[in-house]
Amino acid sequence: MLMANPQESALHYPHGDTLPPTGTTLQVAPGVRWLRMPLPFALDHINLWLLRDRQDGIDGWTIVDCGVTSDTTRAAWDQIFANELDGLPVLRVVVTHMHPDHIGLAHWLCERWTTPARECRLWVSATDWNAARMASQTTTGFGGDNAANFFALHGLADPEALDKVRARSNYYASMVPQVPGRYRRLMDGMTLHIGGHPWHCIAGYGHAPEHMALHCPELGVLISGDMVLPRISTNVSVIDIEPEADPLPLYLQSIAQLRALPADTLVLPSHGKPFTGLHERIAQLTQHHDERYADVLAACAQRPHSAADLLPVLFKRKLDLHQTTFAMGEAIAHLHALAGQGRLVALPEEDGVLRFAAP
Ligand SMILES: [Zn+2]
Repeated sequence: MLMANPQESALHYPHGDTLPPTGTTLQVAPGVRWLRMPLPFALDHINLWLLRDRQDGIDGWTIVDCGVTSDTTRAAWDQIFANELDGLPVLRVVVTHMHPDHIGLAHWLCERWTTPARECRLWVSATDWNAARMASQTTTGFGGDNAANFFALHGLADPEALDKVRARSNYYASMVPQVPGRYRRLMDGMTLHIGGHPWHCIAGYGHAPEHMALHCPELGVLISGDMVLPRISTNVSVIDIEPEADPLPLYLQSIAQLRALPADTLVLPSHGKPFTGLHERIAQLTQHHDERYADVLAACAQRPHSAADLLPVLFKRKLDLHQTTFAMGEAIAHLHALAGQGRLVALPEEDGVLRFAAP
């Protein structure tokens, strides 16, 4: 999470420092356009993609990922629609996963481009569609009492931080107020035909319930979503709704499978810039987590540690609340992975706090 990659120079950015200004696009492969939308977080942007397409005899575009629901994002989309679509309609909306920056405006986009003759459909994994539908209609999952109690169990003691988590009861719904009520299901191994090219769906786990990356062998392009990012490591967190989850091994297995793709694949990530060096980046991320495992083991060998005790060990800088909740989830993920491998044990709770130690 927002952990700067010290080996970024091993990657190659074919567009250098060029970024498409908000409301415009930049072609990154034939029929593939890159656009960026602002985000209200420390991570201040998301990349979205426009793929030239033809469906049912109609020329148009497939959108991949949407941006959060906000007037700013809607205005930027309106600018794109006016200037960047060559006068053609949007035919469908593909979403890599259920996080607010990816699925937020799916409802608005699908409605905007549905005509009496043709529905503009959302395409997403069933797991993420269901998770998004639920999260947009409930008050928990990303905040509220359950999340605060879960962080307290893992040692977060700052009453102000806990109060803020407790108060953040409609966090997800504020950015994803609605999710389309009908969708088309994406599954691992499925092939989409977009603009005359096959795009293969590759399921990935550990970051979202069932993340879908899209690979086009003919274009040599991978839309990696949040599974492989060039500059920061992907957030892999345990959250309160699945308190015993062990997502980190799932994530590492998922990215290891992407090694089967050609080394010169152009990777289109959701954050950062398009890059080549997929195999190097997978090796870097694997090494990054091996080093964090070693840090956690060394700390727990000294004395038992809760997840909150590990924050200064894992994140050597000041974190705001949004970052603290991500960091807690990641610390718990590392603890669970090591406990799952028998390299740590959970101790009986003391003062209501769960701590881990060497076995
Ligand atoms: Zn995400």
